[in-house]
Amino acid sequence: MVPAGARRGLGIGELCLDSGGFWGRRQEVNAAATLRHCHDWMDRLGWIANFDRVAAGRTGGRRPGWQFSDSEVYKLLEALAWESGRSADPSAESMWHALVERVAAAQDEDGYLNTCYGHPGQEDRYADLSSGHELYCFGHLFQAAVARLRTHGPDRLTDVARRAADHVCAQFGPQARDGICGHPEVEMGLAELGRALAEPRYTEQARLFIERRGHGSLSAIPLLGPAYFQDDVPVRQARVLRGHAVRALYLAAGAVDVAVDTGDRDLQAAVEQQWAATIERRTYITGGMGSRHQDEGFGDDWELPADRAYCETCAGIASVMLSWRLQLATDDVRYADVIERTYYNVIAASPRSDGRAFFYANPLQQREPGTEVLPDAVNPRAEGGVRAPWFDVSCCPTNVARTLAVWQTYAATIEQSGSQVLLTIAQYAAGEVRAVLDDGQTVTVRVQTRYPDGGHVRVEVVDVPAAVQLSIRLRVPQWAEGTNLTTADGGERAAEPGWLTVPGALAAGDKVSLQLPMSPRVTVPDPRIDAVRGTVAVERGPLVLCLESVDLPDGAALEQVRLLPAAPVDAAGDGAVAHVQIAALPPTQPGALPLHQLPTSPRNGEPSAPEAADQSATVTLVPYHRWAERGPSTMRIFLPTT
Ligand SMILES: [Zn+2]
Repeated sequence: MVPAGARRGLGIGELCLDSGGFWGRRQEVNAAATLRHCHDWMDRLGWIANFDRVAAGRTGGRRPGWQFSDSEVYKLLEALAWESGRSADPSAESMWHALVERVAAAQDEDGYLNTCYGHPGQEDRYADLSSGHELYCFGHLFQAAVARLRTHGPDRLTDVARRAADHVCAQFGPQARDGICGHPEVEMGLAELGRALAEPRYTEQARLFIERRGHGSLSAIPLLGPAYFQDDVPVRQARVLRGHAVRALYLAAGAVDVAVDTGDRDLQAAVEQQWAATIERRTYITGGMGSRHQDEGFGDDWELPADRAYCETCAGIASVMLSWRLQLATDDVRYADVIERTYYNVIAASPRSDGRAFFYANPLQQREPGTEVLPDAVNPRAEGGVRAPWFDVSCCPTNVARTLAVWQTYAATIEQSGSQVLLTIAQYAAGEVRAVLDDGQTVTVRVQTRYPDGGHVRVEVVDVPAAVQLSIRLRVPQWAEGTNLTTADGGERAAEPGWLTVPGALAAGDKVSLQLPMSPRVTVPDPRIDAVRGTVAVERGPLVLCLESVDLPDGAALEQVRLLPAAPVDAAGDGAVAHVQIAALPPTQPGALPLHQLPTSPRNGEPSAPEAADQSATVTLVPYHRWAERGPSTMRIFLPTT
């Protein structure tokens, strides 16, 4: 048996994706376009130059950007570190060094680093913990430093981060200021830095921030209340995630880090329970989280309207970060299922295919084609419909950049106990695993697949050190009823959803393959979600499909479409073809309320015949992640049935 805690994710260099696959292609676009795009926007808006002004002592006057704009520079740094580690891209490397110089030059003598507060002409440090985001920015600085440590080892940003973390501990330690940040993030950053540098003081500071939260110490923002920043209930007493979705998820992720590193089983169990309740009742079919626009927050249980879904891209990213920590901590396959769903249907949906425009909100239904986007200007953040190059609050583009760059680090885990090695492949893409064992030897395994275009996944053991007993475990997704496994000896057997351990110890040359069912499937939402009752969604493999107005017959509108539930939905391209009825709509009367009496019930429960004006048609459903790529359109995931 493998001892607890021995499970780890692969480093970015231990799984090399083939180019051209679903994620390989996105990583190439991210490297070639998105990183530079983010850099140039922040350069143009003066967000990077804010660091130069602090370094030069010229901080009076108007400062461009929100108070948290430093964090976008740090998230770009994190993306650059991962990308340089993944591909050794020289342009990512030179951008990293140039940015780190400018950031480092802005650090104060005592380790404080922020371009908005604490310098001549600025507000005092920590004068507004509710909204100032200073500790939040530190959290992203720490994560950028950790990305560099994990890919290249210590460098200049390590020193910057260490000095900043020491400053935070001095200012907010047990004998110091009893404060927390309105936007969680520093907890996760400190815990990660503490782990990467083997510095328990940082983990302890993260623990303090988590324990202090939930006692109403932050000054409330009008109309929002303490739940907005999870200051209503202590983390270990909360039953479900609530308030601002990104904040809630970052806090929960930091709590898992602390729980794992301090052996706090109660804290971990509390977050596991919050995750389960949130997934069951407060999460969209896409994996999106947050149904309220007003506070970018979770709604009540079952409050999941498709058209008013907020589903901020960053909340999807934060959800993956939380699920990943819980997957490592518990080995529960459900976390890997949610990571897959969210990566394909929230994170992949955000960037346009050229990597230079992004969705901030990810609604599941668009009633009017998006037209408001400014193609070469800063856009207001919220509404969906058209991807925008940059936002006033531009958290999502840099978050997408750092998250696309690390897809493979979520794909597999390895556990070692003496000569026993268990390699778990949880997410599928073509590529090569070269996992480094404790003694420096490597296990090499090749994965061949066209997933998610196809459901065949072939795993071949290329090399295993002589003394190693290698086991391989594969994930059969929760949706994949009817999966088959072909074992190394050619035997075939059915595989249930969950973890699937390939029988026997595997040797070089052994091949196993999984056949996942990729036919479109119709999914009925829980009847307690009032907003989509009477509708169905169509999914195919890990992809949620949608219907766009550009795929409708001439003259038809999206609200006329009714899916014929008895007719087959067939695979087509990367989507599906569905048989639908284009229903005649009830006549409208200007000035009358849109209320209609039910028609008299037909006898014996027989469905009424379609109206004479109804027409049947076949329509193409496309993956949700690429909706609005063909120009502005209306769109819906949940389709009413006849
Ligand atoms: Zn965001």
